[in-house]
Amino acid sequence: MPVLIAGAGPTGLAAALLLARRGIPVRIVDKSTAPSGHSKALAVNPRTQELLEDTGVTARMLATGWDVCGLSLHRQGHEDVAVPTSPLLETGRSLLSLSQSRTESMLADALRAQGVSVERGVKLDALAQDEDGVTVGLVHPDGSVERTRAPLLYGADGAHSTVRQALGLAFPGDELPEPWQLWDLHLATPLAPDRAHLFLLPDGFLFALRVRGDLWRVMGNGARPLAALPDGTVCGDVRWRSHFHIAHRVAERAGVGRVLLGGDAAHIHSPLGARGMNLGIEDAYVFADCAADALNGRLSRLAGYAQLRHPVHRQVVRRVGALTRLMHGRPATLRELRDVLVPRLMRFGPARRQFLRVAGGLDHPVRTRG
Ligand SMILES: Cc1cc2nc3c(=O)[nH]c(=O)nc-3n(C[C@H](O)[C@H](O)[C@H](O)COP(=O)(O)OP(=O)(O)OC[C@H]3O[C@@H](n4cnc5c(N)ncnc54)[C@H](O)[C@@H]3O)c2cc1C
Repeated sequence: MPVLIAGAGPTGLAAALLLARRGIPVRIVDKSTAPSGHSKALAVNPRTQELLEDTGVTARMLATGWDVCGLSLHRQGHEDVAVPTSPLLETGRSLLSLSQSRTESMLADALRAQGVSVERGVKLDALAQDEDGVTVGLVHPDGSVERTRAPLLYGADGAHSTVRQALGLAFPGDELPEPWQLWDLHLATPLAPDRAHLFLLPDGFLFALRVRGDLWRVMGNGARPLAALPDGTVCGDVRWRSHFHIAHRVAERAGVGRVLLGGDAAHIHSPLGARGMNLGIEDAYVFADCAADALNGRLSRLAGYAQLRHPVHRQVVRRVGALTRLMHGRPATLRELRDVLVPRLMRFGPARRQFLRVAGGLDHPVRTRG
């Protein structure tokens, strides 16, 4: 019986690939009939590059993405602080700008090379577990329902996870009140194309990063984010326009029995820090190790996964949440503090290194055993 993975985002794909490479039979289903052409995550951090190195996916990522060489902080219409980010601390690697859709297609290609394809249009809608395995209900595109068994189920089915809800696990946390706007658009701009740009604005925060060519990702929480781009910027065609709310939540446990959670199903947080997708891939890496042992009879490794990952999820969400609350510039009193504090922290070596450790996914060791 194959291990079942619900969700073929970056977490589920990475889990399936890492299991398949160990020779473990795996089945991966996704309710969407096609992969999303849009890209939420843009940054692949050094930790992910290291974890996927043996799969060959990292080499493809490096050949396709580009190294983010530095971080620029803009304030009052000029670049206030500029710091190098390549290589990122001691890793010898850089943050890589690569769209999530490309990351997913590279993971799916590598998985296909192992003989496994994503079953699309297949929705997990029910589960029950007993001592020996998990019984699930899978709804197929024609409406038929398949009842099947799996020795293990990995819920990598995103923020609104059916698996998490079926386990009855709470997802406590909080949400920032304001909506954030996002554009992927063509820009002619004086902004340095090889750097990430942060803007401290009188009414909020703005982030800009080039995706490829002259296509940029711009997102912010101010009233008119695009108007805050520097003089001389000309906005061209918009490829994708969206908005989102930022929430910080961690599932009360990272799994129960033979059903484990990874990625956004277990934790969500702001995109500042570029951790969501990267942390999900890290979950997948630990899951593959624990699952392999569990299938060889060491069932305690399943509880071990939940015990290992839950504190990591809490720590990362807490750090990214604090960073976001500092940067987003609400309310006005906090904004005044931010405008004084953030440039100083960026100039202060130890604080800057701590920020880069968070952005690089290097703020904790990846442990596969307790
Ligand atoms: C604007 C923005 C920018 C971001 N930037 C970054 C960044 O730079 N770096 C970073 O690391 N992260 C970033 N993130 C976060 C990142 O996009 C997510 O953390 C990541 O997509 C989570 O991957 P996942 O595989 O866990 O879940 P998802 O990508 O949500 O995938 C879940 C999959 O499960 C499927 N599914 C859902 N329910 C079911 C079901 N019942 N049965 C079967 N399939 C199901 C869905 O169709 C989906 O394909 C950003 C997010 C946003 C919003």
